[in-house]
Amino acid sequence: MLRARILLIEDNEQNRYLAQFLLERRGHEVIPAATGPIGLELAVRVQPDLILLDIQLPCMDGYDVARALKADPRSRSVPIIAVTSYAMPGDREKCAEAGAEGYLEKPIHPETFVDEIERHLRSPPRQDDP
Ligand code: MN
Repeated sequence: MLRARILLIEDNEQNRYLAQFLLERRGHEVIPAATGPIGLELAVRVQPDLILLDIQLPCMDGYDVARALKADPRSRSVPIIAVTSYAMPGDREKCAEAGAEGYLEKPIHPETFVDEIERHLRSPPRQDDP
């Protein structure tokens, strides 16, 4: 497993700390961003290997952030994993439509969280994954 540089866009401080802690403990580099606009700026500046994107963000939600990331040629190729606390039917499809390659539901489970993320680093995401 390669050490990955992961941009973490999450407004909730507790979730941000937990995700950062879990990822760093497994050797990954984490760049935290508390808002969508900061995340967009950092995505271009730090060129992450992966973006973890909270969907429930103030001002600019995760769908808009995903669309903006995919509209910019400088960040278009970076895979996005959407993280959402809504377990509504259709959410996964909505995230995919906005450009996210992966989808993860909150709450964060410390024992499986990093494995889920690393799955997206190992192989290109597939639409037909169960
Ligand atoms: Mn949030």
